Parts: sequence; structure tokens; C-alpha cells
Amino acid sequence: MSAKFDQIKAREEQLLCKSYSRYPLAIVKGEMSRLYDIDGKEYIDLLAGIAVAALGHCNPEICATLAEQSHKLWHVSNLFYQEEQLELAERLLSTTHHQKVFFCNSGAEANEAAIKLARRYCSKVQKEDKYEIITLEGCFHGRTLGTLAATGRETLSDGFHPLPLGFKQVESQNLEALEAAITKNTAAVLVEVVQGEGGVIPLAKDYLKGLENICRKHKILFICDEVQAGFCRTGTFWAFQQHDLKPDIITTAKALANGLAMGCMMATNEVAQGFEPGSHATTFGGGALVSKVASKTVEIMLRDNLAERSCKVGANLKNRLLDLQKKYPHKIKEVRGLGLMLGIELKSDCPKVWEKLLQRGFICSLSHNVTLRLLPALNIEEKDLMAFVEALEAIFKEN
Ligand SMILES: *Cc1c(COP(=O)(O)O)cnc(C)c1O
Repeated sequence: MSAKFDQIKAREEQLLCKSYSRYPLAIVKGEMSRLYDIDGKEYIDLLAGIAVAALGHCNPEICATLAEQSHKLWHVSNLFYQEEQLELAERLLSTTHHQKVFFCNSGAEANEAAIKLARRYCSKVQKEDKYEIITLEGCFHGRTLGTLAATGRETLSDGFHPLPLGFKQVESQNLEALEAAITKNTAAVLVEVVQGEGGVIPLAKDYLKGLENICRKHKILFICDEVQAGFCRTGTFWAFQQHDLKPDIITTAKALANGLAMGCMMATNEVAQGFEPGSHATTFGGGALVSKVASKTVEIMLRDNLAERSCKVGANLKNRLLDLQKKYPHKIKEVRGLGLMLGIELKSDCPKVWEKLLQRGFICSLSHNVTLRLLPALNIEEKDLMAFVEALEAIFKEN
């Protein structure tokens, strides 16, 4: 590591809460799928800020929209009507069967909104004592107290108890366990169609269909967390659309504004009745500047058929990785995922391989120390993806 990097690291240790364990890189500049570190080294970015910069870093079209809006209006609060919110809402609703939108500022907030809406819909519209939210093992829904309770992973909530009540977790891909957990107090089931932080685990179609049917049978709400898998990532605009599901509520964030903080929850007209003026609010949600940027982001995703591209390019990449697995069965345990959301689980030494990739100029994420997770920009050039596969093979050849 360079002296410049060491200096940054030392400053951070003094200044910031130690809540992150960072990769040994200080990034100073981004250009589509390229990142540059403080020493001027270039990287191919296969992580895109954890599925956030889905149209690339400093995308020129997004930059132009941001610059233009920055001279018009930034933020006036939700005390006022703003066309930017409506333009974005129309675009978002054109991608799904939902009819109502609530804007917020992150994935966790979108899930908080969904949990609150589900509970309030049950208590105020259905007038029933239903509040419990069921989630699946291996899930991740955020780091607020409520979403930590939903996530239910003790390693994440250690030291933060007591957590809010009314959450229950069941084994994933097990319909009997799910049905057995439902009581007269169950309000909703909340799931990721592809578990992201869990290590890129796609849930089976039959399981998801069965889960939806159980929700309908017991008259409980079905919520999909699309925060990571949404926005064309898996090969359809929303991941639930891979399986013909009709969730009552979906939550989104990460790629929504290509790098600005924004989240959103979408619901059917029926369920959206759960909120009335004053029920739920946030100061920053849907500000004009971020809404305009998000609107441009969604416009480009639709205009450039990025869902289709993600499906095609992702399938090519997955095939290349499966070939690699055939060639190196002692190295690769499993290749899984949909579209451009892929996980490569290694049999051993994953952190070492990840570090060697970094040294060779490839950024991906290291998930649970066993899986390389790829979440590249949706418009990444295929030659960059192939270069990654070649680098991985070169590393396997080294020992
Ligand atoms: C990242 C993520 C969240 C949390 O989003 P934040 O913006 O970090 O609050 C929630 N759900 C899923 C599936 C995620 O991947």
C-alpha cells in the first residue's frame, strides 16, 4: 500500500466511527465501469457501489440531468406538490402492477414503510389484530431496529437489543415451515426473490409461487424486497416478474437514483389505503433533485432495454463461469444467480482469490468469505466481463 493510502487510512481511524471494515482501496474517481484509486491505478468495477451505480459512475446523461435540475430546484419538503415526484412515480408505476408510490431515502426505510403500511392496513382497513411479519432465513432487509428484527440475524443485532416485536423467521424454501408459522396475528410475509447479502441465493420458482398461494389462502400480505434485485438486475425490470408473482407491496432503493440516496415503496391501491395524511412521512423523501435524477435513471433503463440486456449478458457470463467450474471443479463449488446478479462460491481461499483479483484490477464483493459477488453496472461492456473471467482463470492457474 502507498504512503498516500496509509495517510487516508490513519485519518479515517481518527475521524469516523469504526462501523465499517473497508476494502484496502481509496477511490477518487469513477467513469462508467472504471474506478481509479488514490495512486492512479485503474480498476474494472463489477460491484457498482453494491448494485447502486447501475448505469455506471458519472454517467454523462445522468450528470447532465443532475446539473440542469441543480439550477432549478433541490428540495422544498413534502409540504408542497412537486411535478418531479409525479414524473418519477409515473415512470416507476409503468414497470409494475402497483398503483401507489411512497418515496424515502434508503432500502431500510423502504422496508420500514412497507412494514408500517402492512400493519396499518390490517389494523385500520381490515380492522384485524394482525401485525406479525414473517421473513426467511438468510434474508437481509436493513439495519434500522425494525429491519434488523426482520433480518433476524444475531450477528447483526448483537448488542442492540431489545428489538421491536412482531417478527418471526422461518426456514427458506420450506413451505410447510412457512404455513406452520402463520397465526391469526400474521400480517405479511416479506421476501427477497434473490437473497443478495445472504450470498446471491435465488429462491426457487415453485417455492415462491407456493409462498404467494399461502399468503392468498390465509389473507395475508405478500411483500417483495426488490432493493438489490430490482431495476433490471436479474433480467426483468423487477425480480418478482421472473416468476409471475403479484406482491401487494414492493420495496426498492439501491439503483433507483444511480448513486443518490433514494428509496421507494410501491403498493396496490387496496393496500395503500392503509396510509392517510399524517400516517408516515420523511423530510427528504422524493426531493426534486433526487427525483429528477431517479426519473432519468428509470427512463434510460427502459429506453435501452437494460432488463433484456442484463438477461442476455448475464447468461453469457454465467455460461463462461460454468465452463470455468467444469475446468476447475476443485476451485469453484457453485455458480448461481440471475442476470447480472451472480455469485461464485469457491471451495477454499475465497478471500485470497478476491485479493488477487483486486491486485489485478478487478473489484467485486467478498460475501461471507466464501462467495465472489458480481453486481456490475447494467451497461458494462462484455469485454470487461470476459476480462474478469480470464483473470479468475489466471489466478486458479497460479496454484
Ligand atoms: C441493501 C439492502 C437493504 C438495505 O438498504 P439500505 O439502503 O442500506 O438501507 C435492504 N434490503 C436488501 C435486499 C438490500 O440488498
